[in-house]
Amino acid sequence: MQSLKKSIEKHKLAAQSIPLGVNSNFRYWGPEDTRYISHGKGTYIWDVDENRYIDYRLGYGPVILGHADDRVDEAVYAAMKNGQTFAMSIPLEQQAAQKIVAMCPGVEKVRFANSGTEATMHALRLARAYAGREKFIMFEGQYHGMHDNVMFATTVGEGDSYKSSRRDPVSFAVSSGIPSQLKDLAILLPFNDVEILERVVKSSGHEIAAILVEPLLGNAGGINPSAEWLPSIRKICDEHGIVMIMDEVKTGFRIAKGGAQELYGVQGDLATYAKSMGNGYPVAAFGGKSEIMDLIGQGVAHGGTFAGNSVGMAAANATLDILMNTDALKSIEKQGKKLQDAITEVLQPSGLPLSFSGHPSMFMFWFSEKAPTEYREWMEMDHEIYITLSYEMVKRGVMPEPDSREPFFLCASLSDEDIAETASVMQDSLKIALNK
Ligand code: PMP
Repeated sequence: MQSLKKSIEKHKLAAQSIPLGVNSNFRYWGPEDTRYISHGKGTYIWDVDENRYIDYRLGYGPVILGHADDRVDEAVYAAMKNGQTFAMSIPLEQQAAQKIVAMCPGVEKVRFANSGTEATMHALRLARAYAGREKFIMFEGQYHGMHDNVMFATTVGEGDSYKSSRRDPVSFAVSSGIPSQLKDLAILLPFNDVEILERVVKSSGHEIAAILVEPLLGNAGGINPSAEWLPSIRKICDEHGIVMIMDEVKTGFRIAKGGAQELYGVQGDLATYAKSMGNGYPVAAFGGKSEIMDLIGQGVAHGGTFAGNSVGMAAANATLDILMNTDALKSIEKQGKKLQDAITEVLQPSGLPLSFSGHPSMFMFWFSEKAPTEYREWMEMDHEIYITLSYEMVKRGVMPEPDSREPFFLCASLSDEDIAETASVMQDSLKIALNK
């Protein structure tokens, strides 16, 4: 039986000086279950009570190679010794930029930031400046970070009573403190619905600066784009002078070396990156067409005390080197398929319907004949069994995110033995989930 004694103590203490005792609301699992982690190595993390977990959250995606990867850490140590932040440029910035430009189709120029939030905020400002318009379109179920512009959702809640029409979704701010004026600038539409998107752009395209899309809907379990979805957005943007922003914060340097833009063969005008580019170190980027990026310095602001700092840049250079020059991503994909097969083997005998969505390196399975194709379908699913199943797995040393909007993330350290252990833990946990 797992003891969480020390985690509970640490949490109590932390809650005296940190709201909820955590530094991201998503990490709060209640007073008895909020884990404190002592360290990670490879695919494993250990909590302060020395419970070991096979980690399928991986910080919600960043840890692409494995926790505490020696190659990345050595590069960071070397850079650290020379100082971190100079309010001047360092050569590592150019080197990392060159790698991103080489790897990511459509990215001709790039600027650095420290988080996905910053990257999407800057990309959106740049798009607005380029288009000379203020509104933008995003899609239900997407997440772009913690800046006010993007913190809206539609009134799709539990049950029918909160549901606004798919044809004309009504949005609300997902936090107090967000200026109500911003709501009119963010238009939320259903993912994968070309007809509705075309209709809205036809009537108000002249006001729309950007279409901000998660190419693979990684904040709703990894919903796949239909074959026509991204090419249609590309075409609509071209026809209406709208900037297409691919939010590749989750997909970038994960689902292919050049992210979704490579995998799906559709290029945005701008793209945002963060998670996998630094193997867990805080570093982010936004980039795209020179014609748009070059507005920075011609009246469009971008900066940040820590932008291009040596730790982030060393981590990015080392991680991108490995991703670019080895078959790490191919082997993650292979392990992902094996894990999916193992999950199928465990779950199929239960007689429950089963489907998968996403990419083998970031996927979700669904107790449903058909994977969701948009967020509203996710809302309508029964998540009870999945939630119980995943909490039971966590208790037994395998850590998926119990909220099925966060996919299973895989790293290059996941071995066949880890997959076998995952399957065995899932088997035991399933019995409990089905008997509840
Ligand atoms: N965009 C996407 C697609 C994301 O998934 C996230 C984070 N989950 C962000 C932006 C924000 O990134 P960060 O948490 O680094 O600010």
